[in-house]
Amino acid sequence: MIKPEEVLSEYHPPLTDHEAMVEANRCLYCFDAPCTQACPTHIDIPKFIKKIATGNLVGSARTILEANLMGASCARVCPVEELCEGACVLGAEHRPIMIGRLQRYATDYVYERGIDVFKPGAPTGKKVAVIGAGPAGLTCAGELAKLGHSVTVFEKRALPNGLSTYGIIVLREPVEVALAEAEMIKRLGVEIKTQMELGRNLSWEEVRNTYDAVFLSVGLGSVPQLGIPGEELIVDGLSYIETSKMNPSALQVGREVVVIGAGNTAVDCATIAKRLGAERVTMVYRRSEKEMTAYPHEYEFAKKEGIEFRFLTQPVEVMSEGGRVTGLKCVRMRLGAPDASGRPAPEPVPGSEFVLPCDQVVKAIGQEKPAVAKLLGLETEKGFIKVNHEFETSLPGVYAGGDCIRAQGSASTVMAVQDGKLAAFAIHRRLAGSLEAAAD
Ligand SMILES: Cc1cc2nc3c(=O)[nH]c(=O)nc-3n(C[C@H](O)[C@H](O)[C@H](O)COP(=O)(O)OP(=O)(O)OC[C@H]3O[C@@H](n4cnc5c(N)ncnc54)[C@H](O)[C@@H]3O)c2cc1C
Ligand code: SF4
Repeated sequence: MIKPEEVLSEYHPPLTDHEAMVEANRCLYCFDAPCTQACPTHIDIPKFIKKIATGNLVGSARTILEANLMGASCARVCPVEELCEGACVLGAEHRPIMIGRLQRYATDYVYERGIDVFKPGAPTGKKVAVIGAGPAGLTCAGELAKLGHSVTVFEKRALPNGLSTYGIIVLREPVEVALAEAEMIKRLGVEIKTQMELGRNLSWEEVRNTYDAVFLSVGLGSVPQLGIPGEELIVDGLSYIETSKMNPSALQVGREVVVIGAGNTAVDCATIAKRLGAERVTMVYRRSEKEMTAYPHEYEFAKKEGIEFRFLTQPVEVMSEGGRVTGLKCVRMRLGAPDASGRPAPEPVPGSEFVLPCDQVVKAIGQEKPAVAKLLGLETEKGFIKVNHEFETSLPGVYAGGDCIRAQGSASTVMAVQDGKLAAFAIHRRLAGSLEAAAD
């Protein structure tokens, strides 16, 4: 009998004190460290590692959180192979330093002991509204509170911390870690009002009239439609992951599961299905292995988990009998000239339809663009909210960051954190300017 809490529990165990000390002492504490340059939030990595080596764990956590308030999440979810650890000078000849796991060691130390490393700033009398309590919103809120502004975060879901809470599988990040970060932000004096959705029970007029500035960090929407017959029988990948986190024993997993998509979310869905007992899990993707968007280390992980891949395969219809899925009809594809994304456009091979037998189909093909852009009449870029170099939208005093502005590059927690931090500094400059003008 499979126990979901066991097969889906955090993949890496915490480092022991001894392991952390040995690892910290392997670091060369490089000058102008490439690992720090490779970190989108520019955590001073040699400094925090040195503090671990000297037994100053609170100081180490402070160094991390100064640059990245979501340092406990990022320690777990960051694609470190592509970022800091990928840049570590020890990677070429030896093993790179386990930066992510050392970061987790230091941040867990303060969270487990309830130690707060920051205090709220002296009150400025200025009020900021943050819409969306994901990593971008919580970071922006926390940085503004450290600077003395009064911040209210409005979040549509029941729990804060966006995809860190609801979307990233427990194998990488347990829900408790995401919630502990939100609690730390609250202790900086930030008010988080949950089940408040802009455009539903929160009016834009009220927000604009009550606050001196606004930060939009609403992330993206639900999984888009494929537009194929039988789609109503397909399971939504984000809901699949959410159930695996919030109520794993309620998750219905098929015996033969097909996951549509080849990004990191699709790998996550396939991993859940496999670990929860599916005999066969196949990922189908209309382009080739070369164009798949999952990180190379995620792809390798998926193969090790026993997940199969069908490239150049496009679903065309969900086959069913009496409302139960029996298979996914697909067509083989070949690659043609590059499309708008710059990647070779897949085109169907005539007469190549075939049926993949399965009893569950899950789709993980990205997320819809942010709906609030249209609601507020904001300028957009490829459907994402358009911002200038100060993270300000086309509406003065309204800023945005995180996945909802990510028209370029791949969306990740650490990028959302950096946006939230830089936007907070930009908002502070604006508010400090208006305070100075009032004093003149
Ligand atoms: C399945 C999955 C797995 C991922 N795994 C990783 C990973 O391993 N590593 C990594 O770095 N990145 C990962 N990512 C990407 C990462 O989670 C996101 O880039 C990051 O969460 C973006 O943060 P955000 O604050 O912009 O948005 P979100 O985390 O999406 O938060 C947005 C918040 O706004 C709220 N909201 C939306 N609309 C409204 C409204 N109208 N009113 C009020 N509140 C609203 C939402 O409920 C949500 O809480 C993953 C993404 C997915 C989907
Ligand atoms: S590059 Fe590697 S060895 Fe150098 S400071 Fe960073 S973690 Fe330490």
